[in-house]
Amino acid sequence: MIFFIFAGIQKLRKMALINEHYQKLAAGYLFPEIGRRVREFEQAHPENRIIRMGIGDVTQPLAPLVIRAFHEGVDEMASAATFRGYGPEQGYGFLREAIAERSYRSRGADISGDDIFVSDGSKCDTGNIQEIFDSSSRVAICDPVYPVYADTTVMAGKTGSCFLCYPNNPTGSVATRKELQKWVDYALEHKSIILFDAAYEAFIRDAEIPHSIYEIKGAKKAAIEFRSLSKTAGFTGTRLAYTVIPEELVAYDSQGNEVQVKKLWNRRHTTKFNGVSYPVQRAAAAVFTDEGQREVQVTIDYYMENAALIRKSLGSFGYTVYGGENAPYIWVKTRNGMKSWDFFDLLLGKAHVVGTPGSGFGPS
Ligand code: PLP
Repeated sequence: MIFFIFAGIQKLRKMALINEHYQKLAAGYLFPEIGRRVREFEQAHPENRIIRMGIGDVTQPLAPLVIRAFHEGVDEMASAATFRGYGPEQGYGFLREAIAERSYRSRGADISGDDIFVSDGSKCDTGNIQEIFDSSSRVAICDPVYPVYADTTVMAGKTGSCFLCYPNNPTGSVATRKELQKWVDYALEHKSIILFDAAYEAFIRDAEIPHSIYEIKGAKKAAIEFRSLSKTAGFTGTRLAYTVIPEELVAYDSQGNEVQVKKLWNRRHTTKFNGVSYPVQRAAAAVFTDEGQREVQVTIDYYMENAALIRKSLGSFGYTVYGGENAPYIWVKTRNGMKSWDFFDLLLGKAHVVGTPGSGFGPS
């Protein structure tokens, strides 16, 4: 009998056990559910043209200069003399330097190319960053929020650093210098780390609004910043993003010793990631030139014109509308307590427009 029980335990130990935190996740991830409802509508009404504004995707092609650089990168891969195999996991120096200069130093933020880790997406980076922090860490997340922060926090077994996203997805709101200074001061005082997602900084119109957390005093010792070319330069299908971790940023081991966060992330990145493809990095570098910036701005202006139109139209119907001024997102208050999924169905059914239900971003 004793032998029998022992064998049972052994058997259990050999089974593949799951990460049970996954079972705590809300059943349907928001975007698949939107996709399902849209497909159902399409099948029932094939004659209707649907305008898709649900998942934050882009519709305009890559800028001409970006396409030229992309082609040149591909041509280099076709010749033995210029072909490239594995590149540096953190990204090529030409791109990291171009980013540091254009996105940071030109705005007075002292960031070096060496602080920049190029990747294939901010979705992965904002989820993966949690791996280098202790599982008992508590993460403060805004509500409503980009669902990836909350879901990846649950996957990592953390119940509760601090995730900020400005300009904000989904509300389109922005944070002033004064507000961001309060967050940075808090993080410095409490030895916390701010995870700052600036995926939409290029949409900021108001000259007083900071584009980077590193424009704020003390932030290099308090924050990690995530940026993506997805919305800025139409790279949602091309894939390129970057994470910035300044040399000065430290976290602590269980003995209270300081550990450089950049060093940990470098270890993780170089072990689990093998770099973004060379032609994509060439295409991305074109975004950070004067001409590239001008071309990309034309596309951003186009999206912001759409945003202004949506804002104005919804306002004229009497809806209270937020965002759309320094961000491509518009957050609408439904009327008479209508549930957001009901408003989604109404918008799809009557106007053939796909939005995103607010409830998918959190209880608030
Ligand atoms: N961060 C925010 C706030 C987003 O809205 C999105 C995409 O919608 C991402 C990150 C993902 O960006 P990427 O395409 O680089 O993975």
